[in-house]
Amino acid sequence: MSDSLPPCPECAEEYAYEMGALLVCPMCGHEWSAQAPAAGGEADADAPRVIKDAVGNVLADGDTVTVIKDLKVKGSSAPIKVGTKVRGIRLVDGVGDHDIDCTVPGFGAMQLKSSVVKKS
Ligand SMILES: [Zn+2]
Repeated sequence: MSDSLPPCPECAEEYAYEMGALLVCPMCGHEWSAQAPAAGGEADADAPRVIKDAVGNVLADGDTVTVIKDLKVKGSSAPIKVGTKVRGIRLVDGVGDHDIDCTVPGFGAMQLKSSVVKKS
């Protein structure tokens, strides 16, 4: 006797039998998957992402951060200088590991890496 099958989730009868990948309940006709829902995977994608600055402070939308090292900017001869304050950052899932969307004074809108800023 196979007592390893779970009872029907609909009517709780224990006469379910296997049909391929499904379990079928002859009492109410309910069919369900014998496999438990996969843990992790997609659930992780929905988990809130924590973005931290260079020293481990958790960043949030609207924070003001300070650039901690000179940053070369594509298309600009001058770098973003260390110590530049950037107000009102927005956390994004950006290109590569760029996770901050912001407007840098004198440079305009761009994406930065959280690893090169420190929360002010
Ligand atoms: Zn049932």
